[in-house]
Formats: sequence, structure tokens, C-alpha cells
Amino acid sequence: MSRTVKRAFKYRFYPTGAQAAQLSRTFGCVRLVYNMALQARTEAWTQRRERINYNATSALLTAWKKTDDLAFLNEVSAVPLQQALRHLQTAYTNFWAKRAKYPTFKSKKRSRRSAEYTTSAFRWRDGALTLAKMTEPLDVVWSRPLPDDASPSTVTVSCDAAGRWFVSLLCDDVIAQTPAAGRVGIDAGIDSLLTLSTGEKITNPRHERTDRQRLARAQRNLARKQKGSANRAKARVNLARIHARIADRRRDHLHKLTTRLVRENQAIVIEDLAVANMVKNRRLARAISDAAWRQLRTMLEYKAAWHGRDLVVVDRWFPSTRLCSACGALGDKVALDVREWTCRCGAVHDRDVNAARNILAAGLAVTACGDGVRPQRESSRTGQSSAKQENPRATKGIPVL
Ligand SMILES: [Zn+2]
Repeated sequence: MSRTVKRAFKYRFYPTGAQAAQLSRTFGCVRLVYNMALQARTEAWTQRRERINYNATSALLTAWKKTDDLAFLNEVSAVPLQQALRHLQTAYTNFWAKRAKYPTFKSKKRSRRSAEYTTSAFRWRDGALTLAKMTEPLDVVWSRPLPDDASPSTVTVSCDAAGRWFVSLLCDDVIAQTPAAGRVGIDAGIDSLLTLSTGEKITNPRHERTDRQRLARAQRNLARKQKGSANRAKARVNLARIHARIADRRRDHLHKLTTRLVRENQAIVIEDLAVANMVKNRRLARAISDAAWRQLRTMLEYKAAWHGRDLVVVDRWFPSTRLCSACGALGDKVALDVREWTCRCGAVHDRDVNAARNILAAGLAVTACGDGVRPQRESSRTGQSSAKQENPRATKGIPVL
């Protein structure tokens, strides 16, 4: 059996001087159009209680292009500008559905510089990709093969803070559905990055520690430089490069890990750690900035869907640490520095492995009952009432990432 999915394939490319200039101009116009449309929609609502939809912003864009001040919008492909309006529409939809905060303006410095092209705005022929308003194809480094007969439906070009250019091609890909017997619970650990219910502990990516030291040094270096100086600009790029390398290595590590987990297991159970809650704890701020857990969950979600696996998310109020995974009795609160504890039944537990086993049991109980992805706010094995719940463990310690 196999399944066809939409999948993005991302590559580095090296633009010519003219291409880089054209793309930078496009990024600027995309940001401007997004911000102007956001402002128009916000004003219409706050001042006139009027809702402006995507079509109305599209009409606005046409009008803007006809004014002298904004005629330069005609110098770039119209498609990325339209896509910016669609992205804004999505941001509003997410806001109305309470999935996201109110859309914010794109910043020149902080926002991702990117432009999205749909089929009418690029040419894909004989493995060469040419964007609208360009004569030469992009010089792409094809670091991994595209699926056979791939024909991209969307192409996204971006440039990161370290000055690296990327192109992402959205293609149909066929994924073989092979059965797997395993079932695994995953605990976001304190000492290890993750602990599996099988007893396996997964550590942080290699080099993470030295990368962090380099990052701290680059940050100090930047702080010492005079504002507006050429040396400061250089230091900023250097810092961005280190950030980019850490992010790349982490992503790579998580991709390998999630691919393996999804390949080996039919059911994967994870905890729902509410990120908003965790940020309140300052010690955790760095861990959150890494966003490793969120990234892991996102990857597990889409890969599980690709491969027809069950991903179960259990409630984070679940007292997974002090519940004995052997007899089901609820032990005393376990202090953070206690790595091992012994239950009255005689079972000796590694704190994290025990937690992962409980998470797995809770997840399997949910799938057995077939009541969606979230169990009741109580232990599935002891029926403890929600009043006796432990604080989310996540707020108690910092996962060393
Ligand atoms: Zn026990």
C-alpha cells in the first residue's frame, strides 16, 4: 500500500547578482503589501466595524499598483504579492479560530524574508527552475533527489539571517505504507532530551555544547561593537551563522529520530506540554527558544500521517512521574534530583523511563476507548481525581537541550 502526500523539498541555491537584487526587492514588496493590507483590515475593523476579506485586499493591491508612490510594486512578480495576501488571510482565519494571536506586522529585521511562487510564476523544465521576472534558471544544489516525475505546485524562495538562500519545492510524493508492530511512549526529559518507554535515552545532538559556547562568545562579541559600525554588522552575521548551524543540526537530529520512531512504531504516545505555560518559568526560556519539543511534535504529526501511524497526545496534567508503571499505585512526589525511586510493590523505577511507560499506557487506554486523542484529566489506571494532580512536570525543571 502507498499514499500520495504533498511534501516540501528544500535546497540551497546561489543567485546571480541580478537574481539576488530581484529577490531582495520582491521580499521587500511582499513585506510591504502584507503590512499595508494588515493595516487596512485593522483600521476597517477598529474604526468602522467592517470586515475586509481577501478579495477586498486583492482589489486594494490593484489600486496601490496604479498610484505613483507604489508603482514600484509592478517591478516584481505579482504572484508573491497575491500569496502574501493569502498568508494574511490564513493568519486571520487562525486568529478567528483561536489558534493564533492577532496578526502582527512583518519587521524588516526580524521577519523571515521569503516569497512564494505558484505555477503561473515559475517554469520547471528538464530539472531547471526559472522564476518570473528572471531569464536564467536558479543555480540550485540538488542535495537529494526529487521524486520521479516531480512537478512542483509551489516554490518558496527565502534568505536567512546568515545570508544563505533556499528554495523549497512542494511536490507530490508517494510513501509506502509498511506495517510496524512497535508501540512507544515518549517523555520529554530533564537529563536526556527524550526518554522512551523502551528504556532508551536519547541525548542532545553532538556538538550542541560547543556550539552553545560559541554562541555565547559571539553574543558577547556583538554586544561590544559600536552601533552602526561595519564591525557590528560583521559580528551580527557571525552570530546568525552560529544560530543557523545550531538550528540545522537540531533539525537534522530530530528528523533522523522521528523517522526512526515512525518507522518502528504503529502507536506513538507523547505528552502535551503547553508551551505558553512553560515560558513563565525563566529557567526554561532557553529550552523554549530551542523549541525542540514543538519541532519534534510537528515532525511526528506529519510523518505519522504520511505512514498511517497513530500519534496520541496525552494530557500534560497526567501524574506520569510518580505513578508506578508496574502496579499503578501513586507514589509520593518525586524531587527533581531523584533519578530513581522504589515503589511499595518493590519495583525500582528510573524516573524518566517510568514516566514514558505511563505515557504509553495512558495513550493506549485512549486508543482502546476510541475517544479521540485526549484522555480525561485523570490517571487512566488509578482513577485519581483531577484535584490531586501534580503540577506539570515541565515547569519544574529545565530539559537540557
Ligand atoms: Zn508499584
